[in-house]
Amino acid sequence: MILRFPPNFARQLSVKSRRNCSNIGVAQVVAASAMSGQSSGGSSSIVDGVAAALSVGISVNGTAVKIDKAAEKPKPKSTSTLAVHGGERENGTKVADSLTTPIVQTATYTFRNTADLIAFQDGTYKSFEYGRYGNPTTQATERKISALEGAEETLVSASGMCAATTMLLALVPAGGHIVTTTDCYRRTRQFVQTVLPKMGITTTVIDPADMASLKGALDDNPVSLFFSESPTNPYLRCIDIELVSTLCRRKGAIVCIDGTFATPVNQKALALGADLVLNSATKYIAGHNDVLAGSISGSKPLVDTVRKLHNVLGGVVDAHAAYLIGRGLKTLDLRVRQQNSNALRLARALESHPKIARVHYPGLESHPEFHIASKQMRGFGGVVSFEIDGDLALTSKFIDGLRIPYIAPSLGGCESLVEQPTIISYWDQSPAERAKMGIKDNLVRFSCGIEDYEDIYADVMQSLASL
Ligand SMILES: *Cc1c(COP(=O)(O)O)cnc(C)c1O
Repeated sequence: MILRFPPNFARQLSVKSRRNCSNIGVAQVVAASAMSGQSSGGSSSIVDGVAAALSVGISVNGTAVKIDKAAEKPKPKSTSTLAVHGGERENGTKVADSLTTPIVQTATYTFRNTADLIAFQDGTYKSFEYGRYGNPTTQATERKISALEGAEETLVSASGMCAATTMLLALVPAGGHIVTTTDCYRRTRQFVQTVLPKMGITTTVIDPADMASLKGALDDNPVSLFFSESPTNPYLRCIDIELVSTLCRRKGAIVCIDGTFATPVNQKALALGADLVLNSATKYIAGHNDVLAGSISGSKPLVDTVRKLHNVLGGVVDAHAAYLIGRGLKTLDLRVRQQNSNALRLARALESHPKIARVHYPGLESHPEFHIASKQMRGFGGVVSFEIDGDLALTSKFIDGLRIPYIAPSLGGCESLVEQPTIISYWDQSPAERAKMGIKDNLVRFSCGIEDYEDIYADVMQSLASL
């Protein structure tokens, strides 16, 4: 393999690297440092390094360096290894040999001279120009998410909603038609119902399992895009991503899955056939209830189309937030495995409890899409929704009797959180409106944290006992 490094590539390396090597040695240093200190399972090995170097910019004016083909190791596939190492060694931004990716707290980027600027404009010298168009810390986090999702490209945005709205505005033409599903995050529904119609964009809303309606919508309309959560909020319905993707591809419709509730630990939506996967990184991805962000991953052309509009709309994530996401992601696999286990055990315990009317969890055989979830998910996520056998007041009493979870919106962090959707998200709606949206007054959404299961179980049982 021949690598050509742009004339300014050496400038991007640490002072120490530059002191110790000639220009041609630079590539060897990059290659060696990408390989050193790693076990056989080590991620971001030479292959990633090479891929990154290639994406850093190829110049016909640059120095050609031969890399031994035998040195290319296969990419590791395991999610936990990718969570730790993905995106970390690829972009040459590490300073002073730090292990961690630095927080590049800058609004703008400088050019040494006009020749550099022209090289940048011509694409032979990669830099970032201006904070709205990119940031090295954010890019490292984007690459880590790409590694986890198995995506070519990822855009990290200031919130999940910013990622979703920018994606819809970028990919659906004026006058276009989209298909969404009944159960979904309230603000997504609001955007689809109130903003998209201003551009003449119409929507068919289907039940997540209703493939006949999807076929009908695809036959009757020029559908540009299918957008659904899987699992959905708050009833954890699952769509058959493989089947939906097959049906949509035939008609040229883009499939975007909001995988927030699943995370790439439990579900690889792109491998199942979706074109894009969106995450509210606020939830499991960042994982600590301390940062807001969103991500959208998929093929480079699609994500770049979204990024171009994002560059205009400007919903940029702050570098410090991007750092926190990258840091949080290192424990994603550990956290989600514990949350999967807590939620599945809690769901099973609740299902047989006399004071519970119904449990909604895709890992239970009673769930309408259990067979789909079992097929396409490795774990079923940390959220369990359930109905107290009682009214709004009794349900509030149960929530107020809990000692471990905080009463709060959101999900996916280390701390267990609990909410009554009627009160926290739909209180402004009349009971009739809530009923129309399927939001029941006795519904509880419990987002398991990473606490010990026995403690969560004991807490839930003591509160149920007091009803
Ligand atoms: C929270 C959430 C969103 C919105 O994400 P923000 O980061 O809060 O903007 C979108 N979809 C789902 C499924 C969510 O849970």
